Amino acid sequence: MLEIIAETLRITIAVALILAGMLAIVIWVRNNTRKLSTLRLFVQIVAVVLIFLGLIIGPFGQDQWEYLGTAPKDIAIGKEIFGRPYPDGLTVPTFSCYYASGRTATCVVWQLQSYLFPDFGTSSVYSTSGVERLAIATGLLILMSIIFGRFLCGWICPFGLYMDLLTRLRKALKIKHWTLSDRTNEVLRQSRYLIIATFLILSVILGMRAIAGVELVSETELGRYLEIPFCQVCPAKPLFVLVEGALGFMDVDYMLSQTIGDFALTGWYLTSINLVILGVVTVGSFKIRRLWCRICPLGGLIAIFSRFGPFKKISLIKLTKVEEKCTKCGICKRVCPPQVTEVYDDKGGDVTVSSCILCFRCVEMCPYEGCLQVEVAGKPIYKSKNWLKEEE
Ligand code: SF4
Ligand code: SF4
Ligand code: SF4
Repeated sequence: MLEIIAETLRITIAVALILAGMLAIVIWVRNNTRKLSTLRLFVQIVAVVLIFLGLIIGPFGQDQWEYLGTAPKDIAIGKEIFGRPYPDGLTVPTFSCYYASGRTATCVVWQLQSYLFPDFGTSSVYSTSGVERLAIATGLLILMSIIFGRFLCGWICPFGLYMDLLTRLRKALKIKHWTLSDRTNEVLRQSRYLIIATFLILSVILGMRAIAGVELVSETELGRYLEIPFCQVCPAKPLFVLVEGALGFMDVDYMLSQTIGDFALTGWYLTSINLVILGVVTVGSFKIRRLWCRICPLGGLIAIFSRFGPFKKISLIKLTKVEEKCTKCGICKRVCPPQVTEVYDDKGGDVTVSSCILCFRCVEMCPYEGCLQVEVAGKPIYKSKNWLKEEE
């Protein structure tokens, strides 16, 4: 049965991608101010397919995951890294959720929390130590952040695509978005780092039994996955798991059975907190563009390794501005999904900031020739155009 579903999905996805590509070309040719946005949507869809490829290409029900029942725990690309077993999937700093990805790619937030524990997993699954896995995941996080920076957020993250689709739906319904005040936005921006610190410290406190055999919080031995606290509140997990269940890749009974236990909130696939947060983020992101990205700890982690200290100098993708060409028309500020104001406020040069998701909507919409540009390794690859003149 699963093979038939997989085969049908393979064909459906291939046809959908071809149609989406054709549509993208039509919009590309016709619309001057949406060319890059159309390309971005297409790349986001292809990225989602690649991230969740393990679900589609199978094989399903590998022996080593048999104890998980009907849930597909497939090993596609991430089986080995540097010749060492690495069965959780390739580390990718996006919300490519561990619980639903089919193990092609896995969210680095899950990996960092889990690999803090030296005895996480069993020897049949891993032959690397927790420290080795932690080093690989951290190394890949830093490397990808330097190479791609928050381009991963603007163009690759499946949860980012979800929020962009909500925005497209709102626009189609002709409902206006809400704009947060600069002060609120700044508070949200700073809170990312507090969230990262809180959950890493919580991981260690709740997992002390696994790390050092000492239980700091009573009953934590009952919650097998309490040592991965962020995933128990992450809105991406229930979204992808529910979609996976709806598509028939995971047994819904299995997902629900995993939430029943002595510690009711420590469900493995769906928790009530997860679901409430997903609901709030969904409603919020419908009205406020990329709402979750403004507090997302993963976006914050990528920003740490691409926009601060020595990383800022060596990060590859940058947004730059030529001050003399800017007329302060304010378009860049208005069209920016996470409401970045620095592109408007700052003087020329590198105007990339930690809250910028490198979607390049501002570059696409700035109506002054060469005022904003995208640079890769110091070379401009895309510049703003005088599209007003072209449309006259
Ligand atoms: S900020 Fe978080 S949710 Fe938003 S695109 Fe980046 S990783 Fe995804
Ligand atoms: S859209 Fe371009 S010209 Fe207008 S304020 Fe922004 S950078 Fe300046
Ligand atoms: S500043 Fe420009 S590239 Fe950055 S998030 Fe805003 S619109 Fe996108």
